[in-house]
Amino acid sequence: MRAIRRFTVRTVLPEPLKALGELAMNLRWSWEPEYQDLFASIDPQTWQDVGHDPVRLLGAVSPERLAELAHDPGFLRRLREAAADLEEYLTGDRWYQSLPDAPRAIAYFSPEFGITAVLPQYSGGLGILAGDHLKTASDLGVPIIGVGLLYHQGYFRQSLSREGWQQERYPVLDPHNMPLTLLREPDGSPATVRVGLSGGIDLLARIWKAQVGRVPLLLLDSDVEENEPYAREVTDRLYGGNSDHRLEQEMLLGIGGVRALRVYCRLTGHPEPEVYHTNEGHAGFLGLERIRELVDDGLTFEEALEAVRAGTVFTTHTPVPAGIDRFGRDQIERYFGGENEVASVPLHKVLELGAETYPGGDPNVFNMAVMGLRLAQRSNGVSTLHGHVSREMFNGLWPGFDAAEVPITSITNGVHASTWVDREVLGLAGMRFGRLLRNGEGDWDLVDQIPDHEIWAVRQRLRAQLVEEVRQRLYASWKQRGASDAELGWVDGVLDPDVLTIGFARRVPSYKRLTLMLRDKDRLRRLLLDEERPIQIVIAGKAHPADDGGKRLIQEMVRFTDSEDVRHRIVFLPDYDMAMAQRLIPGVDVWLNNPLRPLEACGTSGMKAALNGVLNVSILDGWWDEWFDGGNGWAIPSADGVEDPDHRDNLEATALYDLIEHTVAPRFYDRNDRGLPVRWIEMVRHTLRSLGPKVLASRMLKDYVTQLYTPAAWSARAMTADGCAGARALAAWKARVRAAWHEVRIDHVESSGTGETAEIGHALSLRALVSLGQLSPDDVDVQVVYGHVDEHDNLTDTRTESLKAVGQDDGGRYRYEGTVDLDRTGSFGYTVRVLPHHPLLASQAELGLVTLPPIPTGMTDGSALR
Ligand SMILES: *Cc1c(COP(=O)(O)O)cnc(C)c1O
Repeated sequence: MRAIRRFTVRTVLPEPLKALGELAMNLRWSWEPEYQDLFASIDPQTWQDVGHDPVRLLGAVSPERLAELAHDPGFLRRLREAAADLEEYLTGDRWYQSLPDAPRAIAYFSPEFGITAVLPQYSGGLGILAGDHLKTASDLGVPIIGVGLLYHQGYFRQSLSREGWQQERYPVLDPHNMPLTLLREPDGSPATVRVGLSGGIDLLARIWKAQVGRVPLLLLDSDVEENEPYAREVTDRLYGGNSDHRLEQEMLLGIGGVRALRVYCRLTGHPEPEVYHTNEGHAGFLGLERIRELVDDGLTFEEALEAVRAGTVFTTHTPVPAGIDRFGRDQIERYFGGENEVASVPLHKVLELGAETYPGGDPNVFNMAVMGLRLAQRSNGVSTLHGHVSREMFNGLWPGFDAAEVPITSITNGVHASTWVDREVLGLAGMRFGRLLRNGEGDWDLVDQIPDHEIWAVRQRLRAQLVEEVRQRLYASWKQRGASDAELGWVDGVLDPDVLTIGFARRVPSYKRLTLMLRDKDRLRRLLLDEERPIQIVIAGKAHPADDGGKRLIQEMVRFTDSEDVRHRIVFLPDYDMAMAQRLIPGVDVWLNNPLRPLEACGTSGMKAALNGVLNVSILDGWWDEWFDGGNGWAIPSADGVEDPDHRDNLEATALYDLIEHTVAPRFYDRNDRGLPVRWIEMVRHTLRSLGPKVLASRMLKDYVTQLYTPAAWSARAMTADGCAGARALAAWKARVRAAWHEVRIDHVESSGTGETAEIGHALSLRALVSLGQLSPDDVDVQVVYGHVDEHDNLTDTRTESLKAVGQDDGGRYRYEGTVDLDRTGSFGYTVRVLPHHPLLASQAELGLVTLPPIPTGMTDGSALR
């Protein structure tokens, strides 16, 4: 019989063990090995059985054992130490506390958070990044509040059918049995928020709080009895259901999320956020809710928009147009119009924010990324290359500007060392390397002092541990696939602790090309079975449940790994999750990544590998394009520009085989007389040293704080001080400039000082005559833009210089002057342009307005200079 309800009866801890409760409920344990040891020592077997989950452990351990521990002086001493350590961690000053004028609080919205495997509220890199962001904020003392949804079914657990087809199982989570506390009003009733949906339905949600070190994470949950059955299911699954379902989730996340923040700050006295960071477009509706608040306080929509934009940061994560969240215009009409329309945020304004108003845009579509860009004064991609791709992709929103000037910057992702570095590696150099990684700052020369044999011993141990783990997991998988013990003797001989081990694990969207290595199966077979220099490969990854294409790729892979001749050298492990990643990545020698360039926005698993001294073999995409230096791993040559995808895959697969056969494997098996692969070890050391300081999430978060959060807070303050005087003034100014812009004209440009024989070191004097109509020189910036000229007369590598207004002619036109130093040889060209100018703009492209001279330009000497 199946139970129709389940409860969790929480244990009552004996008084001397009370501190265990707080240690279990604060997720700091998930990145503090000492706390994990303490929990493990309570009951090692149960700790295993509950999947290293402290809350479940405390629920499962017997009262007798607890009574025993309550009188165990050694245990009590360790408990006191851990509790004191946590207290110190939660209250002491950290990096952020030394910054002047930094934001009082920052809200961080994300549809998924990967904090630990026991809180399975993530599906892949986006969520893990969000988890690492919060943990690092905690470590650095950054006052972030996370906002997300609580999905009742965690991300699915994957298994395989006998035929290798992905099977999904959704574990039903019981929030009462998780490290979550329900936010309550002073009278003890659960705190709730309401969000209106289409057809006048009110969606109610309660608010759970996970405590991630110093950082609270609020998770909204629609599974409350007051909701209609249909509404209860809004937070059922991550990325499940149809498009309406997804829209409802995103409305709850964005609109409900802001409301939950308000409740949280009211109940706890936490300062209100000054900055709102939206991790990908899904949470973008948060801007609409903040506009509503300000309009209800007396601002116009446009004024409120300025105030909201100033304090909003938007991070885009996908370079694939198909990967962007888009809704039908009709859906938005149903959900934000009709009975659910609010006067302060009228439907037509909502529609305008998400409209694809650029060439090729679809008038029937509402685009969440486009809305994200319009609602945020500051936006970024997640690697240098992705920033570049994003500026090109969204260039249409800033017509008249070159892609390079599109106001989307980039901050390259990072990973949280304490979560992702194996304890063996943290222990290098007598723990000094671990301290370096965990503090993020210190002397990286330390890495050069770690002796070869110490590095190699750690790599050997990690590989041996992985081999054990793989055998156990493979055995369990085969049992699950219906094999009997008698058929599984061979599993004990799977993988060899001395063979070069390659890892490949990630989600299975097609651009990540799980099966690229299978392009030439015979060649792969030869690499695996090579007599002298064999390789072995461990593979894992989940396909989205609705993605049959991805499941076919998994099946193709599993069928290959099932073949009797190679199954001891290549395995597919089902159910990739954080716990597996934490074991798998450190245990391999090489981490392989072969996405279709440039579709991997950043990628973070390779960063985890680097921090563990694992060498990357990767296509030059995402972060690897930026930080591969020729010696810290290998680049798989990519066939960029080859149009036929099949041909391109063949070329890149061949390049991969060649690289492994001729370079990677020989390097690994090249041993000195003491059996050490000294050149390999040198690459490991170089990887740790060159990539260590860069790939840390502490570097990433400091970049966010200094480059985006703090400027955003300052803008927001400038906008909201004195009853939002700044926002009112900026909105009025923008309206005036937009209305008058059609009158702005560049009437004449001339230059002198070079003649036919321009030479380096000469200066070019420029004069321009500009009509500004109703505007004045204070409203604009008149610039010369100069640089090299390509064969189509386009300027490249441009620089800009503002010209000075020096007077007016009789017709009221303004005379502008300036000089440009010719400090580069080669073809040279320039143009002049007029841009709106206001101190509260974050970028000169912000309004999308620019006036250029008519073509051909008014250059008097005309010639490109040589
Ligand atoms: C790090 C991680 C990812 C992201 O890996 P990519 O290579 O960036 O796709 C996905 N899933 C899990 C479980 C991870 O630990």
